[in-house]
Amino acid sequence: MIATTTNSSRPASDGPLIVNYGGGVDSTAILVGFAQQGIRPDLIIFSDVGAEKPETYAYLDIMDDWLQAHGMPTITRVRRYDVIQRRGTTYNTITENCIANETLPSIAFGFQRHSCSLKWKAEVITRYLRDWQPAAEAFATGEDLPVQCIGYDDSPADRKRRRKADSYGSTDKRRCPTMMWYPLQDWGWTRDECERQIAAAGLPVPRKSACFFCPASQLWEIAQLGADNPDLLEQAFHMEHLHLTGKHSHKNTTCKGLGFKFSWTSWCEEQGILTDGRIDRDRAREVYHRLNPGGGIAPTGCTAATYTTLTIGGEA
Ligand code: SF4
Repeated sequence: MIATTTNSSRPASDGPLIVNYGGGVDSTAILVGFAQQGIRPDLIIFSDVGAEKPETYAYLDIMDDWLQAHGMPTITRVRRYDVIQRRGTTYNTITENCIANETLPSIAFGFQRHSCSLKWKAEVITRYLRDWQPAAEAFATGEDLPVQCIGYDDSPADRKRRRKADSYGSTDKRRCPTMMWYPLQDWGWTRDECERQIAAAGLPVPRKSACFFCPASQLWEIAQLGADNPDLLEQAFHMEHLHLTGKHSHKNTTCKGLGFKFSWTSWCEEQGILTDGRIDRDRAREVYHRLNPGGGIAPTGCTAATYTTLTIGGEA
């Protein structure tokens, strides 16, 4: 039985229940908690930016099996240009966007507003919901509005993120006026507790879900990428090189690369992960273990729950 705080954040609405699923620890823990309490969401939605690590995509399949076994709907996977009209673009994913425009995700420029997440995740979910019949019916009447479950755990950092999310709301408040619920905070589940509950449910604990080139990555995550997915680290180097030498290079005053204040390529060379243009996976593994001796999971860079009404042009 899950203990809830007296101050539950669950909105008083009988509208459709939606889980913004990111493929990471927190949103997985929500589903585990729901299974414990016999709560069945109406929609579990994952916005696929097209740049998750293979481990995350594999985890979605694991979750689909688990969800089916627990009588829940499987994950609805949506991509930006499945639900948003394409206007003069030739790219399908955030990776292709960055490569085509010789740019980097917005947070590489020091923006805390994660406009890349807005564009590729939050806005995509909002647009899907606008046309999803159970939500569209509620929007039309203004009654029983949909409740969106957000995977912020019960840590001080995520409580702060919640305050921000509450102030922003949906990316389209007028046409998609959903209500937010933060179940993990009601249950008092910290990150550690989320991991414990996931394992107790018989599920592997997922890796952090984020774009493989996310500028919010910890150093050990860069090393981990080199150890596990060297082809993706090479793609990240390529993206960084295009930006630093391409059509926007003359504008680069503060951004030194994917790490904002540093270049991933240079850092990997310094660490011996990149030598003579080749990635040394064994060395990457050593660096990973040195930087992350506990082998834990980093704070979330962004999830499908990142909400902001801000838009910034010029970056992916
Ligand atoms: S994971 Fe990182 S790079 Fe990808 S959308 Fe989120 S903040 Fe941007």
